[in-house]
This record gives sequence, structure tokens and C-alpha cells, in this order.
Amino acid sequence: MNRTATDLSDPTAAAAGPWTTRRLLAWTGEYLTSKGVDQPRLSAEALLAHVLGVGRIKLYMDMDRPANALERAAYRDLIERAAEHEPVDYLVGHAPFFSMTLQVSPAVLVPRPSTETLVEHVIQHSKRTPGFRSPTIADIGTGSGAIAIALAKHLPESFVVATDISEAALAVARENAKRLGVSDRIEFFHGDGLDPLDGRRVSYLLSNPPYIDDDRWARLPANVKDHEPTSALRAGADGLDVIRPLIEGASGVLEAPGQLAIEIDDQHKEAVIALVNTTDGLDRPRVLADHEGLDRVLVADRVE
Ligand code: SAM
Ligand code: GLN
Repeated sequence: MNRTATDLSDPTAAAAGPWTTRRLLAWTGEYLTSKGVDQPRLSAEALLAHVLGVGRIKLYMDMDRPANALERAAYRDLIERAAEHEPVDYLVGHAPFFSMTLQVSPAVLVPRPSTETLVEHVIQHSKRTPGFRSPTIADIGTGSGAIAIALAKHLPESFVVATDISEAALAVARENAKRLGVSDRIEFFHGDGLDPLDGRRVSYLLSNPPYIDDDRWARLPANVKDHEPTSALRAGADGLDVIRPLIEGASGVLEAPGQLAIEIDDQHKEAVIALVNTTDGLDRPRVLADHEGLDRVLVADRVE
């Protein structure tokens, strides 16, 4: 049978009894699976919890709750959009990052678990390294504000400058900073690469910039490629269009001591290490692995 989510209002389906949470989840989980959606059951739960205005755990506490017609109509719309591979985080309007909940819209990249590697590194490094305990931090291409906000929260003596080339992304980031209570220690600037720093010196120069090369772009899943901002993802044929000027300009904006940390594609490790090695004022390039064991974060030190 070629089912669609509209079956949720089909009278023959209704003959099987009321659309309880249990039935809705079983049915839509199967439907999203048939559409090749990533994490179908989890997506169905997140969307139903959103429509019912409860947390996901609450769904399990009342699996026999019948959904009314309005709730079913709202759920059906979201399920159809998820079936077209719209990211569930955009549909519900928020995403988890570093134990926080960030508001997201299609103007920003959905923050990824891999990016927590960079955040965790900076927190640990700042706490244990003299000269970095009250750091000034730059987050270039802040998107939802994920890196900037996590660091402002976990390093209470830090001050963060967060930038983006997209005004729409900055609006989302500003709102997140306000909601999470750190807007007094983050300043937001619009502009390309290092330009908005405008002579400011920082202890940490950080970025999760666009780094998808043409080869990987061709292989990206539909939920990323067709729905997330291309300007947050693609960076030229070799994926280094945004990273290259950041590395080349790093020693001009870093204090000494200072540190550069940039999220990279795991396939670009050799290329970014070579770039650091041919740049004056930077030393000790190394790459940290993310939670999947993939080479993910380039780190280098500013030297006199
Ligand atoms: N930092 C966020 C995170 O980790 O979730 C967002 C990362 S997203 C991969 C890259 C961000 O960089 C996007 O918000 C995009 O608008 C921004 N961007 C792209 N090119 C840029 C440039 N040349 N200068 C500054 N920001 C840029
Ligand atoms: N890691 C992202 C992905 O999964 C890409 C992020 C980026 O380009 N900075 O597609």
C-alpha cells in the first residue's frame, strides 16, 4: 500500500480505534522509515511532543492519550515536511548543543555534536593554561551562536566576539545569547572573515566555518543539502575558501600567547597542517578527533 500521512484522517484507519500517542508514533515511525528519513522514530517523537506541547519523555507516560483533530492536522503537516527531508530541528525550532537548547531557523546551520569537540577543548585549555584564564574569544561564523554561547556560559571570565557574514544568522544568535543569559559578554558583528575584528586582539581565534568541498557536496544527504544554508556549508572546490584566510590572518589577530582552533573536514587534515606550516607566527599544528574518532579540529599556537 502506498500510504501518505493524510491517512491520519482516513475514516477507515479511524475504524481501528482512536489515534493514541502509541498508534500515531508506530504509524508515523513506519511512514518516515519508508521515506528514508534519518532516525524515523526519534523524529516522530520529537514532532508529536512539539505538537502536544510536552517533552518527549511525557509521551511515554501517557501512550494511550488520544490526539484530537486539530493536533492530528498539525502533526500531519509536520510529518509530511519531515518526509520531504526538512530537518526536524527546523520544524520544532530548536536543537540541543552542549547541554543547552538553542533556537534554530533555516537561516542557521543546525549545531552538530562534532562541534562540541572544539568547545570542550577550549574550556579545558583555558582552565589549565596560565595566560588563558580570562580569555578574549573570537567565534567567526557563529551561526546559531552555538560556540560563542557555550563558551561564554562555561568560562565566566571570558569575553566573546561573535561574527557572521549573514545578518539573518546574527539575529538568531543574538536572541539565543539573550535567552541563555550571556548577552552581556558577547558582542556580535557582521562581516566577512576576520574583517569585523577591526584591530581587536584575541586569546582564542575559533571557527566552525563552511568547509564542504565539491566532492563531498555531491554526497551530502538531502536533509543537509536541500534545507540548510549553502553559505554555511560550501567553501569552494577544495573546501578551504573560508579556512585559508583565517589561518593566514590568525597571527595578525591573536595575542601571544594565543591559540587558533578551527573545525575541519576530516579529509582536509594534511592540507590545513601544511597551511599552518607555511604561515609565519603559528606553530605546533595538530588535529583533535571528534566523538566519532574523525579528525575534526585544527589547533595551532601563536608564537612570537
Ligand atoms: N558556528 C555555528 C556552528 O558551529 O553551529 C555555525 C557554523 S556554519 C558551518 C558556518 C557559518 O559561517 C554560517 O553561519 C555562515 O553564514 C558563516 N559564514 C560563511 N562564510 C563566512 C565568512 N566568509 N565570514 C564569516 N562568516 C561566514
Ligand atoms: N559538519 C557539517 C555537515 O555535517 C558541515 C559543517 C561545516 O561545513 N562547517 O555537513
